[in-house]
Amino acid sequence: MPFIDLHTHSQASDGTDSPAQLVRNAAAAGLAAVALTDHDTLSGLAEAEAAARDCGIEFIRGCELSTRTEHGEMHILGLWLPHEADPLERRLAEVRRKRDQRNARILDKLADLGIRIGMDELLHEARGESVGRPHIAALLVQKGVVLDMSAAFRDYLGSGGRAYLPREILDPEEAVCLMARLGATVCLAHPCLQALPRDWLETFILRLRDCGLSAIEAYHSEHGDADTRACIDLARRLDLGISGGSDYHGANKPRLRLGFGYGGLRVPLAVLDGLKARRRAKGLPC
Ligand code: AMP
Ligand code: FE
Ligand code: FE
Ligand code: ZN
Repeated sequence: MPFIDLHTHSQASDGTDSPAQLVRNAAAAGLAAVALTDHDTLSGLAEAEAAARDCGIEFIRGCELSTRTEHGEMHILGLWLPHEADPLERRLAEVRRKRDQRNARILDKLADLGIRIGMDELLHEARGESVGRPHIAALLVQKGVVLDMSAAFRDYLGSGGRAYLPREILDPEEAVCLMARLGATVCLAHPCLQALPRDWLETFILRLRDCGLSAIEAYHSEHGDADTRACIDLARRLDLGISGGSDYHGANKPRLRLGFGYGGLRVPLAVLDGLKARRRAKGLPC
């Protein structure tokens, strides 16, 4: 049975493959379809789409937006984004500008701790236009300040770290509306990554469904079987589609393979067919 991956990151945000390499790697891994879902940017999509045409793999244009809730961040994926995505593009440009301001302040905090990283160095490391903590973490590793990325987040960049700064991010309703209005299939990403009161999650999903949320990411590298089953169950009860992907980040999440996660993940092609059937029922292209 063929498999797919609807959640991946390239150099356009915090992955390490170029968009074209990522698509070629997906084809080489034998996947039937792949979506590119970089954080806060659509800038990798054209390159990935062209590479997909060359290697004959189905490609879905996507992105991932972080949103703030009373129980921490929740992430929203948009799939089948159109080529003309103006209201979204404009909002993302603002989000990235805020990221840049925060990055500069994080570098200041690190300098106060005696760790010097220049903005030019950071932009060179990031390559793409959506720049953030994973790129600073990679530089902390390269400079020998910490042993690995998780130590960089634990000691410096994560909440509780010595150079932590929160980031201004979108409201979940706004993120869903922005993408739903463009005709995207909007999915709640990896809902089981943090412990949440059960009733809260269901109420949250219902709130977002009213704004155009249409699926739940049931399959994810960090979801256990029970999480996946719970998401599928919830989607059935709330009449939502199901989605799935690895959350591949290249070498920034070593051991996490495209399409296979940490080894146990397989997202069947039927998941893509299910999402497409829901789109056709609404008269949306796929
Ligand atoms: P930012 O968007 O700049 O706030 O950075 C958030 C990104 O950092 C997430 O999308 C993850 O890819 C990455 N990240 C967050 N926490 C960790 C961690 N503990 N270890 C490695 N990567 C992390
Ligand atoms: Fe990421
Ligand atoms: Fe995420
Ligand atoms: Zn992701």
